[in-house]
Amino acid sequence: MQFSDLGLSEKVLQSVQAAGYTTPTPIQEQAIPHVLERRDVMGIAQTGTGKTAAFTLPMLSMLETGRARARMPRTLVLEPTRELAAQVEENFNLLGVQHNLSVALLIGGVSFGDQDAKITRGVDVLIATPGRLLDHFERGKLLLSGVELLIIDEADRMLDMGFIPDIERIIKLVPFQRQTLFFSATMPPEIQELADRFLSNPVRVEVAPSATTADTIVQRLVAVSKEPAEKREALREILRNSPDLTNAIIFCNRKRDVSILHRSLRKHGFNSVELHGDMDQRARIAALDAFRSGQATFLVASNVAARGLDIPDVSHVINYDISNHAEDYVHRIGRTGRAGRTGYSITLVAPGDEKYLAAIENLIGQDVRWDGPTLAEFRKAGGGGASQSRRDLRSDRGERGERRGGRKRPGHSDERRTGQTDERRTGHSEERRGELVDEHAVAPAPSRTRNKKSREDRAALPPTTDTPAEQPDRKHRPRRHEPEEPDHSVVGFGSHIPAFMRIDPLRR
Ligand code: AMP
Repeated sequence: MQFSDLGLSEKVLQSVQAAGYTTPTPIQEQAIPHVLERRDVMGIAQTGTGKTAAFTLPMLSMLETGRARARMPRTLVLEPTRELAAQVEENFNLLGVQHNLSVALLIGGVSFGDQDAKITRGVDVLIATPGRLLDHFERGKLLLSGVELLIIDEADRMLDMGFIPDIERIIKLVPFQRQTLFFSATMPPEIQELADRFLSNPVRVEVAPSATTADTIVQRLVAVSKEPAEKREALREILRNSPDLTNAIIFCNRKRDVSILHRSLRKHGFNSVELHGDMDQRARIAALDAFRSGQATFLVASNVAARGLDIPDVSHVINYDISNHAEDYVHRIGRTGRAGRTGYSITLVAPGDEKYLAAIENLIGQDVRWDGPTLAEFRKAGGGGASQSRRDLRSDRGERGERRGGRKRPGHSDERRTGQTDERRTGHSEERRGELVDEHAVAPAPSRTRNKKSREDRAALPPTTDTPAEQPDRKHRPRRHEPEEPDHSVVGFGSHIPAFMRIDPLRR
């Protein structure tokens, strides 16, 4: 099927061509004609399938007639994270280059003033995260009664992040007679229920079962010690020795571990940046840009980076912590092996991770191969340094175990040590709530009952110690006594005491 068969306008077809898209992806093929017929659509599709253009292209066609009125956006796209919202805006900028439409982005971490001014002039497309949208609404600067088309993207992610009550509120503010497009990578019962309530006789389009992993991804497991310093050493060994590694996203389950690992990697000369929900917007964008441009080779990230970010050339995804939600594994490793390229995913598995591994293998319907000893063999070999044990075991089994000729991996050492980002952290962000859910699977999301202050103001408050995220982590509390990884940095003069300091001041 061709784009010209889908019913898109001539102007849109020209933009598609200019963007270099030759054939529609399956989700585009299936969804676009229904969107143009003004039907509600429930799309089950992951990012990477072309689902953004599946709604931006017909929207552009439809918006060619009519005009935006002050403070009354014509269409509304809801996204769970700022990064995804910004990506949708980019898509509109790319594909809507000839349309001269007014597109506004309402996300946290950006001043209200500029956003207000834009809304006041009238916008055709409003792209927003739910919290910031409601803040604007509560300030009386925005009317949602002119919305003809509502798009709820990444609905299952919205659920994970605790945004469903906000979505329900927003739906009550838009006209009953609207068209709704609803996209989700998975359809858990809560999402199905939401779709049943808010979509009117929708067309269901589904492109791939959510639990599939791309054939282009080589997946491997590596048995490691649970002990943090040994685990970090095991990671460094992987980064130094993985063939074909050009860059990598390294996932941790907790925000604090993202920072610890990032600092440790930098200390050891790896060119890394960090990304997690406690960073302010500028720092996040700087980190992503540094990684996208190749200035930074390693992106240490929490689950905030697991979904939807379109970073075309990631050779490796490393699960430093195995994901404790099996579906996150699929999303994380989906950051590599995109657009037909070969990608690699390496998951570190420590004693105690067995149940998470079993859940993942169950979900993806296959056993993932071990690189080196299995966890049982690793355990049998009995503790010791993780990397040492792996090497010993490999040579016991006659496998290649030694580091190859000390060849430096790209990004290791000073050669590319650039891309240092603004790492100020303010403890805010809308994604924070979601990250609490993701990263503290057993901890309840913090209460959202305080209502007077704007969400953004609230989020900007310094983190309090009563939130689960800020409670001292039991595992890490005795940190000062943790055996640290060998620290090769020289403190003071180290062992090289200059001769003048050896002179006995009393001996003249
Ligand atoms: P998405 O799933 O929307 O995140 O899209 C993933 C990537 O595919 C983006 O970089 C899009 O620009 C690209 N893309 C979307 N549709 C097409 C198409 N029909 N042909 C080629 N690339 C596409």
